[in-house]
Amino acid sequence: MLQMIRRYERRRRFWRRVRVGGPTECWPWLGRTNGNGEGVHDGRTAHEYAYQLAGRPLPSGASLEHRCGNSWCVNPHHLELREHRT
Ligand SMILES: [Zn+2]
Repeated sequence: MLQMIRRYERRRRFWRRVRVGGPTECWPWLGRTNGNGEGVHDGRTAHEYAYQLAGRPLPSGASLEHRCGNSWCVNPHHLELREHRT
């Protein structure tokens, strides 16, 4: 139970910093950003965080690409998984 509340709190703290729009719109990150203009949250990029909060797995070594081209966008629908193979 306590863990559920903590998880809910974490999500709430995250989405509070996002201007959530419609599914096809860009969702601007309103919090801190890094040098690339990407959102930063809890030591990670905000779009990675949003992607995982949306219930999608992010394998290690993979990265996310913005299909909309806006690095500040955290709409999970605009993110595409890129697996890096060496
Ligand atoms: Zn977008």
